[in-house]
Amino acid sequence: MMAALDGQVAVVTGGSRGLGRAMALELARRGARVAINFRRNEKEARHTLEQLRAAGGQGFLYQADVTDPKQVEGMFQDIFKQHRRLDILINNAGITRDAYFLMMNADDWREVLDVDLNGIFHCSKAAVRIMAGQRRGVVINIGSGAGLVAMPGQINYSAAKSGLLGFSRSLAREVAAKNVRIMHVAPGFFKTEMAETLSKDFIAETCRLTPLGRWGLAEELAALVGFLAGDEARCFSGQTITIDGGRGAVESEFGL
Ligand code: NDP
Repeated sequence: MMAALDGQVAVVTGGSRGLGRAMALELARRGARVAINFRRNEKEARHTLEQLRAAGGQGFLYQADVTDPKQVEGMFQDIFKQHRRLDILINNAGITRDAYFLMMNADDWREVLDVDLNGIFHCSKAAVRIMAGQRRGVVINIGSGAGLVAMPGQINYSAAKSGLLGFSRSLAREVAAKNVRIMHVAPGFFKTEMAETLSKDFIAETCRLTPLGRWGLAEELAALVGFLAGDEARCFSGQTITIDGGRGAVESEFGL
């Protein structure tokens, strides 16, 4: 039986670890050839590739910093030259530099905006150009609940992730005529390295305020993204989908 993404080519930015790793593994499980992009952590990226291959999938590594337009353009051109197609881009690479506003320095602000928003501009531009030419493709932008609700201590991250909402909607409208879909997925809390700085008390409080009473699992996000990337989701574009254990339903309480 054919898998849903058989023969398709996908790029997962920040696929070396965390949520990106789970998404890369899931897209490969569904049949896609997956480019695992990373910035520095080659060891973790190799680990993702080994896991992907051990499960019978096809993939390869590509080192590029999403904040550098030249590296990004080179990555997409190389992948397209080699595989003659590009079907799926998961804009996942992201960072946090948390601090309360009056203590946040300009570098913390710039770095987060540069990776979490500008990086998505660079990657989407290079990918959508190819996808528009093919008259086919899907871009899935990984935002955050922090872009939808107030998150004190994360003004930079919240601003970047809110920006992604407008970016995704507007781009979806612009490129729909080229049969390119743009989706925005906003996860709640998931246990990855990014969340390692959070205190046990904070984690317990977020679980208490989440109707399902727990954080999400990377595999659960990956299953959603795998579905959205495939043809079964061909009527989805421009939407924001939250995956947060019901947190969005109580979002006014979430200004922790
Ligand atoms: P991790 O910190 O575990 O992983 C971040 C990934 O991004 C790594 O693969 C890292 O590569 C890559 N990366 C960072 N900067 C760059 C760059 N300049 N160029 C290329 N790659 C880069 O993060 P998570 O897995 O937790 O988060 C993934 C996404 O999900 C982010 O966009 C985040 O905002 C979002 N998210 C996460 C939530 C959570 O609870 N974890 C909740 C909501 C949203 P390398 O390994 O080389 O450093």
